[in-house]
Amino acid sequence: MRLDMPKKGQIIRVKRQPQRTCVGCKQVEGKRTLIRVVRRPDGIVEVDPTGRKAGRGAYVHQSLDCIEQAIASNALSRSLKANIGEEVISELRNLASSEDSEET
Ligand SMILES: [Zn+2]
Repeated sequence: MRLDMPKKGQIIRVKRQPQRTCVGCKQVEGKRTLIRVVRRPDGIVEVDPTGRKAGRGAYVHQSLDCIEQAIASNALSRSLKANIGEEVISELRNLASSEDSEET
């Protein structure tokens, strides 16, 4: 068995999964469980299901509770420093309701 010994001064991180804060409930989560909303360099805000679009991103759980909270508190627009269009809001709601199969 081979042991990978840490080099002097090297910081070992067990998990490298990026952590992001949901703008709705403020919980920190792994990126995969969150929907990314991006403000593109041209100022247009859109939902980014791939998480790869260029621009400033904000994250919200794929749950109606978090999405409604993020919209109601303006957390999403504050985080992105942009207005969130109706299409973006309805797209988020659609995403949440289509995937939210678990009853809580
Ligand atoms: Zn949340």
